Amino acid sequence: MPPPSLPGWTYTESMKRVALLGATGSIGLQAIEIVDAHPELELCAVASGSSPLDGIDAPLKQIGGDLTELLERAEPDVVLNAVVGFAGIHATLWALDNGVTLALANKESLVAAGELARGRGTIVPVDSEHSALFQCLEGRSSEHVHTLVLTGSGGPFRGRTRDELLSVTPEDALAHPTWQMGPKITIDSATLANKGLELIEAHFLFDIPYERIEVVIQPTSIVHSLVRFRDGAALAHLGYPDMRVPISYALTYPERAPTPLRPLDLTSLTLEFSPPDTETFPMLSLARAAGEKGGSAPCVYNAANEVAVAAFLAGRLSFLGIPGVVGETLAAAESDPVRDLDDLVEADRAARALADGALAAA
Ligand code: NAD
Ligand code: MG
Repeated sequence: MPPPSLPGWTYTESMKRVALLGATGSIGLQAIEIVDAHPELELCAVASGSSPLDGIDAPLKQIGGDLTELLERAEPDVVLNAVVGFAGIHATLWALDNGVTLALANKESLVAAGELARGRGTIVPVDSEHSALFQCLEGRSSEHVHTLVLTGSGGPFRGRTRDELLSVTPEDALAHPTWQMGPKITIDSATLANKGLELIEAHFLFDIPYERIEVVIQPTSIVHSLVRFRDGAALAHLGYPDMRVPISYALTYPERAPTPLRPLDLTSLTLEFSPPDTETFPMLSLARAAGEKGGSAPCVYNAANEVAVAAFLAGRLSFLGIPGVVGETLAAAESDPVRDLDDLVEADRAARALADGALAAA
């Protein structure tokens, strides 16, 4: 029976077993809402890092520990990886290795894995910009594409000068203008590291060279990204900023299931676009450079950023210290080819040690 709140929904698929990793987070809780609204979706496993999973109805539950063991037992049709940070890497590679559809929110794992993940398995992106691009591309190969345009809100400090960022606090940075998200990605949005990670994520998801991926600021987050095609057409994806839309798309793909969102009211919108201020927010240029360098450099960028953001949130590093620590780590790290998961884990460990050293000196 279709849920009464979603009229007109008919099932064309049989039950889909969803393993939800990071079930207690911002994405995780919204995913549970989507699963609850669709009887053809069922949770076969849920996991968190340390928070209790009480009140979540699933046959397998795990707090901490090895996520791949849980996935082996759960036999999912789709893994929604909504873990935060490099900790999600094993689950991402497990899904790709086992031919299980990966609904990917955990962008850090794709950024770090890079070439190792490229062209393997089915990834349906959950990140709103990449979901938008995926929908505009409709599976077309990169030769049809002129440029990808990733949009970003610019975060809470858009328009500020470097001097005005000298004394911002974690509390200031956690006040995102358009999205309600977990703390790590919210800080990443304030530094533009999130857009940097997304640039690398887009490169690996869609096989487009970095020079053909542009970033544009659109402060109200209504335009979620767009594709310029080689024939002169540009397709954009619009909607209110609400992660339930890309989560629903990824979980019910290739269907388009109803969500309880109000339709977009175009007459109430003004859309403004501007280039990002890469002088004041160097994390975007650092990501581009790391992406272009390739090998383990994106993994190093991600690891150093995770260390720096944790230190900022703990009051041990200034806001402007974040790009400082990441820049120093990238300059000091070896850039090695990445052949397997062991190489990645080692690159991540070594980068964290370098970032800790840069932190101690900051
Ligand atoms: P969050 O901090 O709200 O939640 C993180 C979740 O991961 C929690 O359930 C936590 O318990 C779990 N977790 C942490 N370490 C773990 C481990 N070792 N093993 C298992 N679970 C672990 O974060 P979030 O905002 O929901 O973001 C999750 C991911 O989605 C991030 O990669 C983020 O960049 C991405 N993302 C989030 C949003 C958003 O709107 N929140 C949008 C786009 C992409
Ligand atoms: Mg995003």
